[in-house]
Amino acid sequence: MNTFKTTIEVAEAISTKDVKAFGTHSPEAPLAEMNIERRNITPHDIEIEILYCGVCHSDLHTARNDWGGTMYPAVPGHEIVGRVTSIGSAVTKLKVGDLAGVGCLVDSCKTCDSCKQDLEQYCLNGWTGTYNGIDKQSGGHTFGGYSEKIVVTGEFVLKVPSNLDLAATAPLLCAGITTWSPLRHWNVGKDSKVAVIGLGGLGHMAIKLAKGLGANVTLFSRTPGKEKDAIALGADAVIISTEETQMASVSGQFDLIIDTVPYVHDVNHYVATLNINGTLVLVGYLGGLEPVLNTVPLILGRKAVAGSVIGGIAETQEMLDFCGEHNIVSDIELIHMQDINDAYERMLKSDVRYRFVIDMASLKQ
Ligand code: NAP
Ligand code: ZN
Repeated sequence: MNTFKTTIEVAEAISTKDVKAFGTHSPEAPLAEMNIERRNITPHDIEIEILYCGVCHSDLHTARNDWGGTMYPAVPGHEIVGRVTSIGSAVTKLKVGDLAGVGCLVDSCKTCDSCKQDLEQYCLNGWTGTYNGIDKQSGGHTFGGYSEKIVVTGEFVLKVPSNLDLAATAPLLCAGITTWSPLRHWNVGKDSKVAVIGLGGLGHMAIKLAKGLGANVTLFSRTPGKEKDAIALGADAVIISTEETQMASVSGQFDLIIDTVPYVHDVNHYVATLNINGTLVLVGYLGGLEPVLNTVPLILGRKAVAGSVIGGIAETQEMLDFCGEHNIVSDIELIHMQDINDAYERMLKSDVRYRFVIDMASLKQ
């Protein structure tokens, strides 16, 4: 007998409740208030009242279907911090009243080789994104943190350090882990020379975390005027990437470059600044590169161009604990939920210093 349940059968088996949220029904429509259904907790779940939610450029890509495949209604938000309001009988990790965090991942198969190595973000059977993921438990698709509450399997909930400013901690759940994971994978430490391309949400966290690990850090920015900020965030140097002489001055220098640019751009300029054996890791733009990637400097310098997506749950907890110990948080601008459409326009103009965070109390007004 076939024991697999269809999505509809799963949905019927789990009771749900209505929750207030902010989302959109189409790529063109602005985000607006709506109601969504969250499952009532199962023995393995944690329910969290969302206090703050960061605004990632991926939220905008998803709301506007930049990558294709957005399921509507779409409720973005995967930089979630809040307080536990209810807990399933089998959960021992946290208790009601504790602070909790949820990042970009809410489920994975937990049995494949990747999951067994704590690399749920590379789950061979497909991980479930916090939004726009196929919800294996309730059916339908997942809704993110632009909402009052979220219900998540306990294993995918993070412990949040209590010594940090809570609103400024939210962006660690995506911008933090997405830059931490490559820094750790490529063994960045005090002898490393790291560069970061783009001073936005991910970029400013990459600077802080690389600095926290002891590296020498350079920022590449195309926006004159961000230099002072970059130095204040911890960068040792700033290169304006549109200035050829400045680019030439750092030729062959970096062990690792974290490229956070969200749109197509010429990666070859930056490959020239990699040291022998250096790696440029793309975390932003998804798609074909234009102009094409020239393999000559890769081959002649044993250089690599790689990619990386978010980080696993254990690694996210490691990053949060590191931030707690080193007092690292995001530089944020706190907004109301109702300001989200303006925030997206400002993000497109790189006019955010350096992460919008939504005060979710505004959704209750
Ligand atoms: P963001 O806050 O908008 O920052 C992006 C920065 O890139 C901007 O501040 C700007 O920096 C630079 N930039 C923007 N447009 C550019 C262009 N056309 N050409 C060159 N530089 C440009 O975005 P974010 O939230 O950090 O996200 C960055 C990207 O990472 C997005 O595509 C997002 O979807 C993706 N992302 C990936 C992962 C992952 O797991 N791999 C996780 C989260 C987000 P300057 O003004 O300094 O040049
Ligand atoms: Zn994100």
